[in-house]
Amino acid sequence: MHFLIALIMIIPKEPKLSVEQLSAVTAIVEEYDCKLQAIVGHHRSVYAVLGEERKTVMVNRILGLDFIDRFDAVDSPFKLMDINSELAHHKIVLGNHIVGEGPFVIAGHCTIDPKNPNLFIESAHAVKEAGAKAIRGGIWKPRTMPYSFQGDDASVKILMEARSQTGLPVDTEVMDEHQLRIAVETGVDILQVGARNALNYSLLKSIGQMTQNKKIAVLLKRSMGMGPLNEFIAAAEYIAAAGNPDIMLCPRGTNPTMDGYRNYPDESITPLLKEKTWAPVIVDPCHSVGRAKYVPSAALAAIAYGADGVIIESHLDPQRGIGDDPKQSIKPAVLKQLVTDIEAIWAIKNRTVLAGN
Ligand code: PEP
Ligand code: MN
Repeated sequence: MHFLIALIMIIPKEPKLSVEQLSAVTAIVEEYDCKLQAIVGHHRSVYAVLGEERKTVMVNRILGLDFIDRFDAVDSPFKLMDINSELAHHKIVLGNHIVGEGPFVIAGHCTIDPKNPNLFIESAHAVKEAGAKAIRGGIWKPRTMPYSFQGDDASVKILMEARSQTGLPVDTEVMDEHQLRIAVETGVDILQVGARNALNYSLLKSIGQMTQNKKIAVLLKRSMGMGPLNEFIAAAEYIAAAGNPDIMLCPRGTNPTMDGYRNYPDESITPLLKEKTWAPVIVDPCHSVGRAKYVPSAALAAIAYGADGVIIESHLDPQRGIGDDPKQSIKPAVLKQLVTDIEAIWAIKNRTVLAGN
């Protein structure tokens, strides 16, 4: 598997190339030692030429094909994730939900305890009942200490059992290619890239490649050290350029930390992201504030800032949880009230007079 740099995007006249047209363009591109990468959007597909340099003759030959409209003309470092890109009307569909149309709430345990599968399944039912549209459950965990519980491949079955019992899409974090392969093969719907791996470009590329055309979405967390927003969007661009544009951006608190909160809350970057990229924003207030009692306010703030949803750690009995659950999981009853409040803020935020502000 080799990856090169995408320098140009081909825009066909029709929403996508036919099989014959695709092989005609591929043949030209390969003559110049480049590769063609289809990026399949909801409304249209674009085609990235992966190559080390721009080759004028190749470009002219492609432009000479009557079914090609043009090359990308977006004057932005982000050819795919930019608010003005050809994918700007792209929609991510998860379960029965079109992300962006009504609040998308993902909820569930920080970590699945493989010794207590039923507790996870019960929490999954409870968060669904509370209004969650997808279930989260950590199979593999990035732990600060090597002696802490690191996760267990066996928890995949527990997550998938929750998926089949609730009928909701499921989310889990992957940190390496072994985990990625298992998650893709078993049909996990949302792959989470954690704050620690948001700058792991080879992992981002592998995720984009291995999830393309599989209806798997990626929830990309903001890393603790990401300052400029462009760095965050560029990380998403890596995944999209490798083949999968189904990416949701997830602010989850950054450095420097401050007394009281686990990280520096950053839900306020939501409108700034939305000025630059079409990607939906799903805020994680739990890792941001780090304590269950502060989570509802931070979640409501995120919706007020225009987020498309939130990802919440929620557990039937947080004291019996592992990982982050004892400190920052809210109970499903609290989640239920929060979802009601989120809907109210959403309605206010999306009133015609406020929309776009
Ligand atoms: C998590 O979601 O449990 C997690 C570890 O998140 P982050 O990567 O944001 O720390
Ligand atoms: Mn966690």
